[in-house]
Amino acid sequence: MADCLFCSMVSGDVSADIVLDTDEVLAFTDINPAAPTHVLVIPKRHVSSAAELGQADAGLLAAMFEAAAAVGSGLEGGWRLVTNVGPDAGQSVFHLHFHVLGGRSLGWPPG
Ligand code: AMP
Ligand code: ZN
Repeated sequence: MADCLFCSMVSGDVSADIVLDTDEVLAFTDINPAAPTHVLVIPKRHVSSAAELGQADAGLLAAMFEAAAAVGSGLEGGWRLVTNVGPDAGQSVFHLHFHVLGGRSLGWPPG
């Protein structure tokens, strides 16, 4: 999709620190990390947010969870999976992404 930052990362027009690259999914380091490990997992196909997902996306979602688990597998203390939807949640990039956070004790509930 034109003018989408994460689509530009998928196409290679914008550089990313890629940690995992599969047919359906890309994972890369967050530019403004909120934890020692902060990786974003995105679908290569443009989806605006989790609010758009349905039964037809089951395979894509499985691939995203598999990628998140692969990233988290190195984090012995555990890890958190977050996806923000809309302004109240703080979504700032409108291409679906999972935040994988770990490497420190994470507070709950989030702010
Ligand atoms: P959200 O606020 O949930 O939409 O998350 C968007 C995330 O994208 C934020 O954590 C940003 O730090 C991250 N981000 C924005 N631009 C880039 C970039 N060029 N490379 C990597 N991460 C980015
Ligand atoms: Zn996009």
